[in-house]
Amino acid sequence: MKYNFGAGPCILPQEVFKQASEAVLNFNNTGLSILEISHRAPEFEAVVDETLSLIKELLNVPEGYSVLLLQGGASLQFTMVPMNLLGEGQTAAYLDSGAWSSKAIKEAKLFGNVNVVASSKDANYTFVPKDFEIPADAAYFHCTSNNTIFGTELFNFPKTSVPIVSDMSSDILSREINVADFGIIYAGAQKNMGPAGLTLVIVKDELMGKSGRKLPSMLDYKVHADNKSLYNTPAVFSIYASLLNLRWLKAKGGVAAIEKENIEKSNALYAEIDRNPLFKGPCNVEDRSRMNVCFVMENPELEKPFLKFAQERGMVGIKGHRSVGGFRASIYNALPLSSVQALIDTMKEFAENNG
Ligand code: PMP
Repeated sequence: MKYNFGAGPCILPQEVFKQASEAVLNFNNTGLSILEISHRAPEFEAVVDETLSLIKELLNVPEGYSVLLLQGGASLQFTMVPMNLLGEGQTAAYLDSGAWSSKAIKEAKLFGNVNVVASSKDANYTFVPKDFEIPADAAYFHCTSNNTIFGTELFNFPKTSVPIVSDMSSDILSREINVADFGIIYAGAQKNMGPAGLTLVIVKDELMGKSGRKLPSMLDYKVHADNKSLYNTPAVFSIYASLLNLRWLKAKGGVAAIEKENIEKSNALYAEIDRNPLFKGPCNVEDRSRMNVCFVMENPELEKPFLKFAQERGMVGIKGHRSVGGFRASIYNALPLSSVQALIDTMKEFAENNG
């Protein structure tokens, strides 16, 4: 038995793996594989339609927003956002709360002025900055809702008249959000939505074309919106597997139901980190991520032995990112409470042997 705590690509529900593999051999009784079907076939257009409508339903996307199924990862959105929204000579406000935020800042600087309104870099990103002001004339405010590497999450988005752009790669569909509060939400699919290769973008229609810049077609939100995400060949298989995952989420009761589970799972793991004298959490308690749980050991010399001990018990992907060290357990939607419990038991057993 393997317990996959990988940060992404990551665990998806077993039934999604099974249904996706069936479709590789025979997609919806067409006698064709999902890998060979045309993206213009009516059967695949139905997949796109259902995927878009499930995203709208599960996230309660209001009128006036377009849902796009793109490629290039969240990393390409670091570029597309300023290209589409930041006009020549304008300034965008950015919150620097982790490695992904700082990558987004680097790209935005290619297109206009960037005002970093706050940063927790000096504290190795162990908290999410809170007291900052967003200038009213900023073209947009960009933030990362969940810092996958450092294990912090932004639970309260600022109230501002400036459009909020959020990179939700690692917590999209894990908790309820009010889409109407945002100008753009984007996410690489490969955590809570589906396999790698697909990027979700939800964009407020009135923001399209805002920069006034001439854009290459593939980098223009409007082109993708006007073509219902079929301007070019989309990530056919990733979209299909994401659809299966969205159906799974809906059947589980949707985002509100999974959020409850995610709170329960993360509370259980943080409680063990706080209780067990061998471990500690490096992040500000109120900012602790429900998706990526980072922890280190009081005695760093025990980290290698603990990693080996956990690997022998089937734990996969718990080694922390090189910039944090220690451990990171990513406990995305599809990871069951029983797997979290198995990790907790492993930590307890290790402490008994090394107490
Ligand atoms: N933003 C966040 C918050 C991420 O976690 C990641 C990937 N782990 C990225 C951006 C980059 O995503 P991609 O690899 O899809 O470009």
